[in-house]
Amino acid sequence: MAVGVLAFQGSFNEHIAALRRIGVKGVEIRKPEQLGDIAALIIPGGESTTMAKLAEYHNMFPALREFVKMGKPVWGTCAGLIFLANKVFGQKTDGQELVGGLDCTVHRNFFGSQIQSFEAEISVPHVADKEGGPPGFRGVFIRAPAILEVGSEVEILAEVPVPDKLKTSEVIKESQKVYPESLNKVIVAVKQGNLLGTAFHPELTADNRWHLYFIKMVNDQIEETETATSSGIIKAGDIYGLQDPKIELPIYLP
Ligand code: GLN
Repeated sequence: MAVGVLAFQGSFNEHIAALRRIGVKGVEIRKPEQLGDIAALIIPGGESTTMAKLAEYHNMFPALREFVKMGKPVWGTCAGLIFLANKVFGQKTDGQELVGGLDCTVHRNFFGSQIQSFEAEISVPHVADKEGGPPGFRGVFIRAPAILEVGSEVEILAEVPVPDKLKTSEVIKESQKVYPESLNKVIVAVKQGNLLGTAFHPELTADNRWHLYFIKMVNDQIEETETATSSGIIKAGDIYGLQDPKIELPIYLP
């Protein structure tokens, strides 16, 4: 069993490399019928409007929505998180199609423009609980979205304080009119059943814990389905063995 990575645009290669580092096979997904062959899907970061246009052109949206409805695990990172959100704030005028399913409101460019991209140490107690390692994680935020509000079924996995210099920005003032809470801290990682969303880019770090966490979600889901056989379970290290995590293009080395 392999994990699919939506491969129209953005950091799909980096996710496939991160999966390879934990010994899991990742495959590039560009056609609706390919979704039938994978246990789970990652929607990478990139540029959500462009990615949505390409996905629409390739008629992916109905199949992606069906995949989510079937209860298959899907992880959206950054632009991928925008894809999964039920509501998006700060979209381009004519908006973009969404897959939806994740009961939250996301501000598409909450942290500002590309040049306001940043790295921050974030507290990830849930992930550290399951995967071990330090309680912190180096979050790489690239023109990142933020989650302003979540429904009751959504588990919050990480939050960050809003950087002081952004507090007077138009983006924040604008979202504050609707979500007054979003001035001091915002949510940057959530889980809701089979769906995982992160506003940052774990595939660009050498810390594999988010990928391992997602694979556990995948295995839990496989175990729950009636047709599951133990051979369907994906184990970290199954395909390529566990490799040195520092081998491929991490931009951050702990
Ligand atoms: N904010 C970006 C968008 O709208 C997403 C950025 C990212 O994926 N790194 O698409």
